[in-house]
Formats: sequence, structure tokens, C-alpha cells
Amino acid sequence: MGPMRAAAQFVAELAERGLTGQTREVRVELYGSLALTGEGHGTPGAVIYGLLGLEAESLSLAIDYISKVSSSGQLTLGGQHTIDFRPERHISLRKDITLPEHPNGMQLQALGEDGGVLYSEVYFSIGGGAVRRRSEMGLQPTATRRPVPYEFRSCAELMELCRRENITIAGAVRRNEGSLRPMQMVTHRIRTLCNTMSAAIDRGIATHGTLPGILRLTRRAPIIYSRLEKLFHDNRTDALTIIDWINLWAFAVAEENAAGGRVVTAPTMGSAGVLPAVLRYYERYGHKESPFSFETGREVFLLTASAICSLYRANASISGAEVGCQGEVGVACSMAAAGLAAAMGGTNEQIENAAEIAMEHNLGLTCDPICGLVQVPCIERNAIGAVKAVNATRLALRGNGSHYVSLDSVIATMYETGRNLHPDYKETALAGLATNALTC
Ligand code: SF4
Repeated sequence: MGPMRAAAQFVAELAERGLTGQTREVRVELYGSLALTGEGHGTPGAVIYGLLGLEAESLSLAIDYISKVSSSGQLTLGGQHTIDFRPERHISLRKDITLPEHPNGMQLQALGEDGGVLYSEVYFSIGGGAVRRRSEMGLQPTATRRPVPYEFRSCAELMELCRRENITIAGAVRRNEGSLRPMQMVTHRIRTLCNTMSAAIDRGIATHGTLPGILRLTRRAPIIYSRLEKLFHDNRTDALTIIDWINLWAFAVAEENAAGGRVVTAPTMGSAGVLPAVLRYYERYGHKESPFSFETGREVFLLTASAICSLYRANASISGAEVGCQGEVGVACSMAAAGLAAAMGGTNEQIENAAEIAMEHNLGLTCDPICGLVQVPCIERNAIGAVKAVNATRLALRGNGSHYVSLDSVIATMYETGRNLHPDYKETALAGLATNALTC
């Protein structure tokens, strides 16, 4: 998502400068983790989408844009100006270079008729689809967005303002979102997110076959589903069948992501299965015991999860390349636990506790995807993260909200642990399972 947005931003900046028509060639260099796991993560393809000016929300899954560019050797920048473009020649994976600002760096250059550089920019994909220019690195998130009624940077600040105003975490986020755009739009966006997550589950369950890539992994979601159906019809379910269902929903979305299907970055693509699985758990089972209506409960779930995500963004990282999988599946687990606790009617303190428990037991989680593909260990890890989130919520809701470790402390610990992790364990496929389980 990040490289796609960076490329689209570059094309837009080129147009703003009136340079699109003069561009004869575009060169892209990917650095660090983007280069090392670029093939497995589909990064060159994402760059092509961006250069074409496509947006994730609107691109048609029925069109094979990448094959079209590869076979024609031509690319229409932002849909406006056609240039010669050979992916293997114009996109370089510079595995030997990591930029000092962030492990996910990329440079784009537009060259004119005489071969001179018309425009050049360096971008960083900092996690969850967010992109920053080199000049924006180091800025606080608040420095790049409009002010909102309830500013908070830490969980302590968030809890304090909720106490003072006598509101829930979801209520604070809702008010903030409503100050940036009409309330109807906020509600519409939340429903769209819910529907997109749900559709990814349903597609993942219904799609048989093999995932793309050298591992030739068989999709497991439809297999798990048919077994669950058979058990149900034979009346042979047991007390833990519910775990099988949560695993199934997470697998379905994670496999959709691995196959390039449409998923919601929550907080990243690699961890996109956790929130939908826990949300589906809420829809199927949790909401029966929730004080909220079905729709309100789903809204509360996602608004609360987004508040927790913003704390990790502000104080740590949601990038596997920066802090390992703690920042992806770990953060997704923490967001989902908090969202579920809120949707089940938990107090703000119980919500914080759920988020904290969920991250506490993901600390140190490395990122070592085999062959750089977001498949092993990623797909199973989404399922484990989803089940762990439900368990964290249950632990928190059985207490009164008081807890020993604060969410702020666990976020600081996650960031410190991530920074101390050897770089090879941060989305490089140079260590861990990536080298011990199989050589690609
Ligand atoms: S191991 Fe985790 S962080 Fe790394 S690619 Fe897989 S899901 Fe993402």
C-alpha cells in the first residue's frame, strides 16, 4: 500500500509542477526491506499501480494492469501521459542500500528528453499505507494533520480526557473524526470498512486453489470451512469449535491478502486478518451479550481500535521493517482486543487493559517471512493473533480494569524491543524462519 501511494503521490507532484508531459522516463529504486522482500510482497506491482494513478479503493481486480504494462512496455503516468516502461529495467531492488531514516525507503526520478532529472523525490513507507517524504521524516503525526477537539498522544492523556469529559474512547474518536468531515461520512466509512472486511472473509472462504509464489501453498480457509460445516451437520462440535471459526476467518482474509485480493489495512496488509476475524466473532457471538445494537457495536469496535492504533503510530511503529511483527500482528491483536472489549461494553480501563495484555504477549515477535512472501508464518500468525485478542479481552473483562502494566509502558517496551532487534529479523527474509525453514 505504501509504495503504491508513494508512486501515486510522485505522479501527482509531477503534474502539479507541470512536468508530466516532458517526462520521457521514470526510474524507481527500492531500498532496505522494500527491496529485500519486494518480490514476495508484490512491491514492484504496487509501484506500477501508483504510477498509473490508481487508488486501492477503486482499482478493478478484474484487470491485470501489471501484465498489460509488462507486455506492452508502456505505462500511462496518472492516466495522462504514456512513457516507455519496462518493470525489470525501471524498477531496481537495491538490496545493498538501506536509507538512514527508515528501512522502507524508495526514490523516484522523472527524466526528460535529454536524460536529465526533471524531478526526484525520496519517500518512506512507514506502515499501514502511510507515506512520508524525506523532508517530513521525524515530524510528529499532529504536525501533518488538522487539529481535532480531543488531542492525545499517550494512553494516559486519552484516559484522562475521557474521565474529564465523561466519554468513552470511541466517543472521543467519533467526535474527532466528526470535526474533520461530516458525521454521515464517518458512519459511511465505518460501514464500508466493515463490509470490505466481511467481503474479504467470504471471498477467502469460497476461493480454492494455490497461493501465488514459489511456496505453492494450498489455500486452507475453504478446507477448514468444509470441515466445520461437516462437524456442524454431524452435530459433533465441541466447546472449542469457536476457536476454529476465529482461525477460519483470519485465514480467509490473510490468504486473500497473500493472493493480492482486496483487504483492509488494519493496521497493515500482513496483519489484515486479525481485526476482521475478531469483528466477525463479535458479530456472531459477542454482540448477544453487548449493551449496543449490532451496528453501534461494530462502530464502537472500529473507532476504539483506531484510537489504539494511533497510540502505536505516535509512540512506536506499525512497520514490520522497523520493529518486527510486534508492529503488525502485535498491534492488530492489541487493536482488536481493545475494540472487542469496547463493543462488549467494557469500561475505558478494561479496554486499555485488553490492549495492553494483547501486546504484552506479542513482545519480541520477529518478522521473518519465508521467501519474503506474506504467507509463512504470516497467515497462521493472523489466526493466532485473533484468538489471542479474544482471550486478552476476556481476561480484561473478568477484571475491574485495574492493571499493573499500563498500555503506554507496553508500547514503549515494544518500541525499545523493536529497535534492539537485529535488523535481519525485521522484514528482510535474511534470518529466522526465512533461512532455517527453507532456502528460496
Ligand atoms: S511476519 Fe508479520 S510483519 Fe513480517 S511480513 Fe509476516 S505479517 Fe508482516
